[in-house]
Amino acid sequence: MSSISFLGQVDRMFEKAAAHTDHPEGLLKQIRICNSVYQMEFPLKRDDGSIEVIKAWRSEHSHHKLPTKGGIRFADNVNEDEVAALATLMTYKCAIVNVPFGGAKGGIKINRKNYSEGEIERITRRYTYELVAKNFIGPGIDVPAPDYGTGPKEMAWIVDTYRSLTNDPLTAAACVTGKPVTLGGVRGRTEATGLGTYFGIREACSYKEDMDKLGLKTGLSDKTVVVQGLGNVGYHAAKFMQEGGATIVGLAEYEGAIYNKDGLDVESVMAHRKATGSILNFPGATNIKNSAEALELPCDILIPAALESVITGENAGRIKAKIVGEAANGPVTADADATLLDQGVLIIPDVFLNAGGVTVSYFEWLKNLSHVRFGRMSKRFEQASNERIVRAMADAVGIDIPAEDFIKATAGADEIDLVKSGLEETMATSYMEIRDIAQRVGTDLRTAAFINAIDKVAVSYKELGIFP
Ligand code: NAD
Repeated sequence: MSSISFLGQVDRMFEKAAAHTDHPEGLLKQIRICNSVYQMEFPLKRDDGSIEVIKAWRSEHSHHKLPTKGGIRFADNVNEDEVAALATLMTYKCAIVNVPFGGAKGGIKINRKNYSEGEIERITRRYTYELVAKNFIGPGIDVPAPDYGTGPKEMAWIVDTYRSLTNDPLTAAACVTGKPVTLGGVRGRTEATGLGTYFGIREACSYKEDMDKLGLKTGLSDKTVVVQGLGNVGYHAAKFMQEGGATIVGLAEYEGAIYNKDGLDVESVMAHRKATGSILNFPGATNIKNSAEALELPCDILIPAALESVITGENAGRIKAKIVGEAANGPVTADADATLLDQGVLIIPDVFLNAGGVTVSYFEWLKNLSHVRFGRMSKRFEQASNERIVRAMADAVGIDIPAEDFIKATAGADEIDLVKSGLEETMATSYMEIRDIAQRVGTDLRTAAFINAIDKVAVSYKELGIFP
């Protein structure tokens, strides 16, 4: 596999799925190719007065819908192939979860640990300047977001720079997502990918026919789970899986893994790690020194949520999980994918399962354009209606509802409730769509997800009148 580039692997997946469609060759080529890549080099004045040249990219894979959308990563191994491949995946991911954006991705080739905060700010602002200068950013053009090595702080610098360089006071906040809530961010963005992972797996486990094939019952309550990575995605996925009734039997971090067949309480493990600096030696759990071995633990659901390419041709045959939920990007290599499918494993693909982040970013963009917090117009109205209904019902049956229950039963939806509910709807509906295709075509979920994406992008190009 090593001889095939990341973009080559994505394109290979595309070709496999495209073979199940009947779109004309020219249209398929237009969907597959990357529309534009802007490679830039700009000077950074370092704190010691020296000048360093910084290399960076922004790639917009598809303009079939605007704006394009995708994160910006700061990493010293970023390269053009990776940025283009990730932009391509963003196009498919957005289409799969019905987020009306094209795909994009940005990268700055730096190891942020080697730079002061002031230098990171100057790099981020200069990168934004370059994007503005070449029309590669804007609420209706291209909307970046955080990715590896970036977070709300960088997004705040981006929106501030964009606002100061453009005459766009009304919509400027929508030029980037993943902002702090005080700067127009949306509540629920932090946990969105982990929560979306939970909603996606829960949906997959709700089909009796599919669970029968795996020898499992429907629902999460009888399921054992192993999660690799306790960062943003892994921690939230593990937490929501536990709250949803599953038993977390294994957790892995880079320092090692822990296992307890009777269950691990995620919050207690996090507290233990904070106190001791490691997940190892958690009371009642068995230590596993080699973290990667955690992937081979007996469990029903394995959630790799740390790195790419952790399940390979080498270890795939030893995976015991019946369901693999790809929370990380690209955790299963192409040859491992084939082995797992041969073993009858249900793989819930990354291009669907970790789309919670971009889905909630879409909600943030909508909030910025409408200039109103979700729930502001309806919360009190809903609450008053609920109160009337509950009071009428209580009077009709002659019961007194305790005040605390009354408040819970009648509350109107706030921003966080609406974001979570929108995410739940998105993940459930999208899973149904790809499952239907998988059944109709007789293929795995990853291929079905790609077919779904190709069909949707094809419809957009046809609507634009570009293809008959
Ligand atoms: P993160 O940096 O917050 O977490 C990654 C965690 O994995 C860290 O805690 C790290 O210590 C741990 N880790 C590193 N090496 C490990 C190893 N060998 N074994 C076990 N654990 C290890 O990153 P994240 O935002 O949670 O992203 C995780 C994955 O999810 C990445 O593949 C990312 O591309 C993908 N993803 C993230 C988002 C998002 O919204 N954050 C959205 C889509 C996809």
